[in-house]
Order: sequence, then structure tokens, then C-alpha cells
Amino acid sequence: MTGAGPFSWKAGGCHCGAVRFEAALPEAIEAQDCNCSICARTGFIHIIVPESRFRLLAGADRLTSYTFNTATARHLFCSVCGVKSFYRPRSNPDGWSVNARCLDDLDSLSITITPFDGRDWERHGADLAHLSEEAPSSKEAL
Ligand SMILES: [Zn+2]
Repeated sequence: MTGAGPFSWKAGGCHCGAVRFEAALPEAIEAQDCNCSICARTGFIHIIVPESRFRLLAGADRLTSYTFNTATARHLFCSVCGVKSFYRPRSNPDGWSVNARCLDDLDSLSITITPFDGRDWERHGADLAHLSEEAPSSKEAL
């Protein structure tokens, strides 16, 4: 049940303002709180979107990447302030994961946060794959 449109562009960014992005999000936003080794340490709350619903507005030259384990995920953070406002997730290498905590008007958004057991990746990683599909087909609803 991926949120069907309409989507609206919501802006966000890192702490110092060097990195700015926008993501097209539905009115009812679904987010994941992952317990894996890196998400637990950074407090990252995932809003996963397809490629077409993300755009980097500023700061491409300030982004630094970090990889580990399978190196599928590209953890991107601001080299000035250290904040990871979005990244290329292992679950969705064709899409982006935006950090809900880095959205400008977080308090005005309707976000449902679901726990995700990323610590047991092999069992649960595929559960998120559909979130970066460009146009979810209706037959996959339900
Ligand atoms: Zn920054």
C-alpha cells in the first residue's frame, strides 16, 4: 500500500544549510525506524521514495559518503556539519531514503513511523523494496 498521489514537494536539509533537498511526499507519510547498527546510532527515520520523487537542490559538492559491509548503501552526510539528511539505501538502491528528522516543517506533517528490524537484514530487507517503485501498479495494492 504505497501512498498514491497527490504528492507535494517538501524541503529539508542538513544542519548548517549546505545540503538542501526536496522530496515529493503523500499527505499521509509512512516512515521506518530501523534498528540496524548505523540507523540506531544516527537516529535516522526513513522515508523511502523513488528516484523521480527526490531532488538535490544544493550541496552536492559538500556530500561525503560512507559505506560498509556490502557497500550497497551509500551513506551520505554533510562534510561541514556531519548531518545525514538522505542517502542511497541498501533496501532501495534505485531510490532514496530521506531522513524525516531533516524535513523543514516536520511538525506540520502527518507521519506514521513503523519499526523496521534492519538488524535481521536477511529476513526483512526485501520488505521495503516496493517503496522505490516509480508507479506502483494497482494489482499490488493489498
Ligand atoms: Zn551541513
